[in-house]
Amino acid sequence: MPTSAYPNRILAAEQTLVGGRFQPDTAVVVEGGRIARVCPVAELGADAKIERLPRRLLAPGTLNAHNHSFQSMLRGIADDCDFFSWRDRALYAYTPRMDEAAVYHGARFAFAEMIRNGVTTVCDFFYIHRDGNANDRAVIRAARDLGMRIVLARTMYDWEGAPKEYQESIADAVARTRELWQEYRGHDDVHVCPAPHSPHAASPAMIQAGSRLAEELDTRFHIHVAEGRYERDTIRERYGKTPMRWLESLGLAMERMTAIHCVWLEDDDIRLMGARDVRLVYNPASNMFLGDGVTRIVDMLGAGVKIGLGSDGGCSNNRVSVFDEMRMCALLQKVTHLSSEVVPAETAFAMGTAGSADTLGLPAGRIEAGQYADFVLLDSDDPSLQPPFSYEKNIVYSMTQRAIREVIVGGRTVLRDDRLQLVSWDDVLGGLREVMKDWPRA
Ligand SMILES: [Zn+2]
Repeated sequence: MPTSAYPNRILAAEQTLVGGRFQPDTAVVVEGGRIARVCPVAELGADAKIERLPRRLLAPGTLNAHNHSFQSMLRGIADDCDFFSWRDRALYAYTPRMDEAAVYHGARFAFAEMIRNGVTTVCDFFYIHRDGNANDRAVIRAARDLGMRIVLARTMYDWEGAPKEYQESIADAVARTRELWQEYRGHDDVHVCPAPHSPHAASPAMIQAGSRLAEELDTRFHIHVAEGRYERDTIRERYGKTPMRWLESLGLAMERMTAIHCVWLEDDDIRLMGARDVRLVYNPASNMFLGDGVTRIVDMLGAGVKIGLGSDGGCSNNRVSVFDEMRMCALLQKVTHLSSEVVPAETAFAMGTAGSADTLGLPAGRIEAGQYADFVLLDSDDPSLQPPFSYEKNIVYSMTQRAIREVIVGGRTVLRDDRLQLVSWDDVLGGLREVMKDWPRA
């Protein structure tokens, strides 16, 4: 979307979240899809066209830094199964049915539900390529049709045990990822980066190619690391190293790495992440859902690791709300450490906004000049935000989806009063039901 298509606005809510604190009498000036200025309302001239928003709290939109959109279609199919049965009965069994239309409608469904939950940017770690980029473009189209910002982490996958729809040669994966990046370069609403799948599903040469491509294109690269204990054990058996140390030994551009999960790490891995600025996307609900374990968030914060939040796929969570992940993150870490002091609400909120933006390499998640104009407007009268002693705490611990009254991406309103503004929910659901009408329950 060209930046000239974004509307210019001046938003003055009852309170605005600036620098981690809600403040009254604040104007946010939006120009060309970005925040041009944040200042006291009184500093604007008498002729400024200010949108006054009483009973509304303006906060940064959330960024879902890790998702697999097609998995939203597989909710309820293999819940409560061990990882390998879940993978085989849901992902692998249904992948052959996922043609371009199914991928599009599945993504539009996933993203529409996210918008209703206050997500303004999604990172889709996408791998049903079917020997090309048509499906990847369908995912991007789904986000654009809804007005959502997207990072397409184009997966590079060459493990032969997976469905053939995922697999590519290294040369094809590199060429197609580069081609997709070139198609969307210069657009603020679409970003493309390489994503070698994981130490267990991408060969060492594929992972190295992904890292080199990130350097060439000046992007980040995403990779799942040590999600399950089995991967740590396998890599250790095969190479005598932890997955993180093994990745480092491949000569990767660690500073460009966004590592997903990192459940099974040693102290030394955490020091390495801090020292080399490896960033983490934490998916607390998915890790719980699949019984993976608890990522050492408190130790990572201590080591200076930048942390974002993701929902992961819609069939391993099974919600797609970053506000939910903030609450899950804080609560899970408190019970793990037997301390209610660890990961306060403000820290969890920062992870799902500015932290996620850092893992995606985007200027987003903060209400300050130069950032993308991506916001949620919350109803300050909503029961789940009352009483107003601390909206900063309430937004993480008590707020429900009902309080989200408006979602704004690049200054454009894409949801108001729970109604999508660019596509109707009936269309989203109708499209989904049409492509899934012949799918059996495996
Ligand atoms: Zn994942």
